[in-house]
Amino acid sequence: MAFEGLTERLQNAIGKLRKKGKISEADVREVMREIRLALLEADVNFQVVKDFVKTVRTRAIGAEVLESLTPAQQIVKIVNDELTKVMGEEAVELNKSDKIPTIIMMVGLQGAGKTTTLGKLALKLKNEKNARPLMIAADIYRPAAIDQLEILGKSIDVPVFSMGTDVSPVEIVRKGLELAAEKKNDYVLIDTAGRLQIDELLMDELAQIKTLAQPDEILLTVDAMTGQNAVEVAKGFNEQLDVTGVVLTKLDGDTRGGAALSIRSVTGKPIKFIGQGEKMTDLDVFYPDRMSSRILG
Ligand code: GDP
Repeated sequence: MAFEGLTERLQNAIGKLRKKGKISEADVREVMREIRLALLEADVNFQVVKDFVKTVRTRAIGAEVLESLTPAQQIVKIVNDELTKVMGEEAVELNKSDKIPTIIMMVGLQGAGKTTTLGKLALKLKNEKNARPLMIAADIYRPAAIDQLEILGKSIDVPVFSMGTDVSPVEIVRKGLELAAEKKNDYVLIDTAGRLQIDELLMDELAQIKTLAQPDEILLTVDAMTGQNAVEVAKGFNEQLDVTGVVLTKLDGDTRGGAALSIRSVTGKPIKFIGQGEKMTDLDVFYPDRMSSRILG
């Protein structure tokens, strides 16, 4: 379950205030120290924690809170508001083109869940928007990636365009887009290559695909379980490709929650979806307010 540790620590910190009735400025400072440690332990980005604690403390020391009959409740509300803000406030929808097809390019490091997420998204578009997507297999470096996408495609009944591993990814995308135009697919989802780390060759290739395909959406998948590393990866990809959104995968296995709480502030880009399991239906829209309530337990 996500955020286990953080939820427990936040509840403990605020719980101490509940026992006190009326609270003082010193009590607020004490609880904020504990919240700060809880966030750092959850692997939230240092600067994000600093700004968050400062904002919450300033609001909590305000007269209305200290003079209130239910100060702990007020502080919970402030923490909830500010957590929601840190994660972007509102859910952000998938971009859509005025004309068909809407082109979505999926990028990310190997193992982050890129191919799986591509399949999940195609299924979601099919089920919820009655879409007729085409998936393009442009990861030629891992033959298994093409097989994996084809098997996924069969399981969700979405066509996959592939040309094996001997053709350049840019060429595959070009041909795939031609096929989509011919078949009048309304969405095209491009699976790209991933590496273990960000490197120049990968970024060059992705930039070439971006130039050719002019995607409406460049979705970056990052693995929530990797915490601050996921945040660094998001920063790196965003600097090179100017991504339009992030999918945070494996949130079902992330017990800390640092990536969810840092990515928006660090990159300025919204988390659009969260992956919460291995099944094709385990992809959900990211709602900052719901996530904040979940964190507070
Ligand atoms: P890629 O190399 O980025 O294309 O990664 P894959 O799509 O092959 O995914 C790597 C592994 O992560 C696979 O075993 C997936 O089933 C798993 N995976 C992907 N998304 C999720 C998720 O949201 N939750 C869990 N638990 N596993 C996931």
